[in-house]
Amino acid sequence: MEASASDAQLEAVVQKIKEAGLATHLSVGTERSVIGVVGDSHTKELLRDALEASPGVEKVVRILQPFKLVSREFRPGGTVVSVRGAQFGGVTVTVAAGPCSVEDREQILTTADAVKAAGGTLLRGGAFKPRTSPYSFQGLEEEGLKLLAEARSRTGLPIVTEAMDAAQLDLVAEYADIVQIGARNMQNYPLLRQAGRARKPVMLKRGAGATLEELLLAAEYVMAEGNYDVVLCERGIRGFGNYTRYTLDLAAVPVLKHLTHLPVIVDPSHATGKWRYVQAMALAAVAAGADGLLIEVHPDPEHALSDGPQSLNLENFQRLMTAVGAVVGAVGRTL
Ligand code: PEP
Ligand code: MN
Repeated sequence: MEASASDAQLEAVVQKIKEAGLATHLSVGTERSVIGVVGDSHTKELLRDALEASPGVEKVVRILQPFKLVSREFRPGGTVVSVRGAQFGGVTVTVAAGPCSVEDREQILTTADAVKAAGGTLLRGGAFKPRTSPYSFQGLEEEGLKLLAEARSRTGLPIVTEAMDAAQLDLVAEYADIVQIGARNMQNYPLLRQAGRARKPVMLKRGAGATLEELLLAAEYVMAEGNYDVVLCERGIRGFGNYTRYTLDLAAVPVLKHLTHLPVIVDPSHATGKWRYVQAMALAAVAAGADGLLIEVHPDPEHALSDGPQSLNLENFQRLMTAVGAVVGAVGRTL
């Protein structure tokens, strides 16, 4: 729409699109509003001229990418996902940190205090864990969600935690501020749709074998249901090296920032699989333009029930935050 278009003009255009049997997705920006039109391509082509001629319309742009709502054109200014005072996108770089799994009350409260003291903005912790082996610790489930909620009331840190299937999502969303969809579930379409219907921000992790286009189409599922608060997370893809757990695809950051308006964060913990390399890749991620980091932190990594080898202890997390702060400043952003 033109910057000067009135609400009535916008409403009239929306009506015209709906009458043609197409769906609308509205993005209201500070300067102008963009109406996304989705549905049958032939119908869209027939409507094109009528829309172009409607009062208040600046231009009709065909989005050639297979992903539409996710594409940069839909929101040229970029999306900022805000949750309880925390922000993904914009000038801030946001750090979510915490243990891989919530293990017990003392572990999660100690970690939450340390994350807050070091300048972390959100607390992460898994209550439902997608483990490679069925014999590994599977998480505390609802008890874990309750402990996360207690850590949130104590510290004020919003919480990020994973839902593994559609049936579980509503329960997780009752407690979580951001619902994490893990790498193994990136293409679990019923889960993506359910996350799109739940009105809670979603953190979508890239599958270890997924292309960026597949990641963006997965995000499109969430947005198509009307939930526009999606944060993308690069967490490493399967390579042939064996010194690190996965291969961090750092170029994914500028590529995604170019293709989509959604915020992009990096998880150097799962990407490297070894605590020793986490800080270096965290700094590189911020330098590459990431909007945030997801870091695994544990008070006693040697005894962690999951992902101990890649977890920073509290002291090393504090060190990482100091180093990240310097790079954040150097690239003209704020923590
Ligand atoms: C996690 O964040 O603990 C996790 C299981 O991550 P991913 O889905 O990236 O493997
Ligand atoms: Mn983990």
